[in-house]
Formats: sequence, structure tokens, C-alpha cells
Amino acid sequence: MAEEKNRPVALVTGAGRGIGRAIACRLGAEGYHVIVNYNGSRQAAEATVEEILAAGGKATARQCSVADQDACREMFEEIRKEYGPVAVLVNNAGITKDGLLMAMSEADFDSVIDTNLKGSFHCIKYAAKQMLKARKGRIVNIASVSGILGNAGQANYAASKAGLIGLTKSAARELALRGITVNAVAPGFIETDMTAVLDERVRKAAVDQIPLQRFGTPEDVAGAVAFLCSDQAAYITGQVLAVDGGMAM
Ligand code: NAP
Repeated sequence: MAEEKNRPVALVTGAGRGIGRAIACRLGAEGYHVIVNYNGSRQAAEATVEEILAAGGKATARQCSVADQDACREMFEEIRKEYGPVAVLVNNAGITKDGLLMAMSEADFDSVIDTNLKGSFHCIKYAAKQMLKARKGRIVNIASVSGILGNAGQANYAASKAGLIGLTKSAARELALRGITVNAVAPGFIETDMTAVLDERVRKAAVDQIPLQRFGTPEDVAGAVAFLCSDQAAYITGQVLAVDGGMAM
């Protein structure tokens, strides 16, 4: 186990629940001091921290809506002062507000873009400032197969995730010379609160489209993220790794 003061800092946004929680626990087990960001789910974030501490890791919960640029700037500044520069950023926070586009309100379009796309932009901007000084860093953005394939009923969400893929590739090009890699992971259907709302008919139709014939687990996604953050992935940047049971091949 690394010495407490030497643990590199990993910030995972939206890490109280679902995929973010699994990523936080995995990075905690790999020796990072994990900042467990949350927006509204304080108890869940504290439970994630407890799980990491119980496994011998180090973690701290920090509230901040990624959609709020000023709050993001403050969060990154505070982390740098208290724990050291951010070495790993995982932009996982995301929301859905599904509906057919003819009936979709501007507010539902904007709020999904503000969280999923602009939230990642804010965090990349402030993380990159710290990583540039260190001349190394890892950024992983959680996109979606919806951003690759499109999805009826998810015009806002698919646009946000397709935008996130463009943001990933642009940031990868800008930051490569400073030793910072930027990649995306595009999950398919993963068992979390986000997919728990799907009815049986929709679930069955989804499984029928998945060559591996099952929904993935948050841990399936966490494994791919941990790989992209590791030394083994030092020569990989600007890529989109689908973790989707073969759905988008
Ligand atoms: P989830 O269980 O609904 O959790 C969403 C997470 O995002 C929560 O931790 C939530 O935190 C956080 N969040 C939402 N708005 C936020 C904000 N403004 N600031 C900070 N955190 C915020 O979703 P999930 O399934 O784990 O999804 C995680 C990521 O994977 C998302 O980006 C999602 O689009 C993507 N994804 C999921 C699937 C899937 O099948 N589940 C498939 C493809 C991609 P609070 O609870 O604290 O608000």
C-alpha cells in the first residue's frame, strides 16, 4: 500500500451510486486517494467512502454539481490545496431526460447537455491545469453507445454523449504533448438505477440486441476505466472503448 501522502488523487464525478461507485471502489483498491464527488446523494457518497476505507483505501466525499462551472473551479482548487494535484479524472456524472424529440422541452435538452457534456468540459478544464504542471495525467469520460448509435427517445442524451466523444478526441490532441491521455468508455446497458426504470419488454428487446446476451455490471465498466488509467494504457489516447457486450460493433 502506498504511503498516505504519496497516494495520487483520483476524482470520480457522480461516484455515490451506480457505475461511478464501482469506479471509485476500483481506483481506491488500486491505491488512489479517491475524491467521491456527488450532487444530491450525500449518504450514498459517504457509503462509497466507507466501502473504500473498509478495504484499506483512502477516500473523501465532496459535493459539487458538475454543471456549475464556478463550483467545479472551487472543488478542484480545494482538492489541490488539501490533497495534491488531480492525477486521474473520471467524468462519470450523467443524467437522462428521455422523450421523443418532437415533444422534448428546451429545458430537458439543456439540462442533459449541461450535466453530461458541459459538466465534463468544466472538469477537464480545471483538471488539465493541474495535470499540465505535473506533465502527466489520465482523463476518462463515460460516454455511451447512444452517442455512437443514436437512440430513439434520447436525442438530448445521445447528443450529449456524441459531444463528449468529440470533446474526448479534441482534449486528447491538445493534451498529448504534456503526457496526458484522454479516452472515453462507452457502456451499453449496465445494471444501475438508470436502467432499473426500464420495463420487462424494453429489457428483453435490449438483451436481444446484445451479442453477449446480458446487461453489464458497473464492475465491467470499472475494469475498463482502471485499465485506461494504468501504465499499461500509456500509449492509448483519443479512443472510445465500448463496454457493451458487443452491441455497437
Ligand atoms: P445513475 O445510477 O443514475 O447515477 C448517476 C450519477 O450521476 C449519480 O451518482 C449522480 O449523483 C451523478 N450526477 C448526476 N448529476 C450530477 C451533477 N450535476 N453533478 C455531479 N454528479 C451528478 O447512473 P449510472 O448508470 O451509474 O451512469 C453513470 C454514467 O454512465 C452516466 O454518465 C451515464 O450516462 C453513463 N452510462 C450508463 C449506462 C447504463 O446503462 N447505466 C449506459 C451508458 C452510459 P447524485 O445521485 O449525487 O445526484
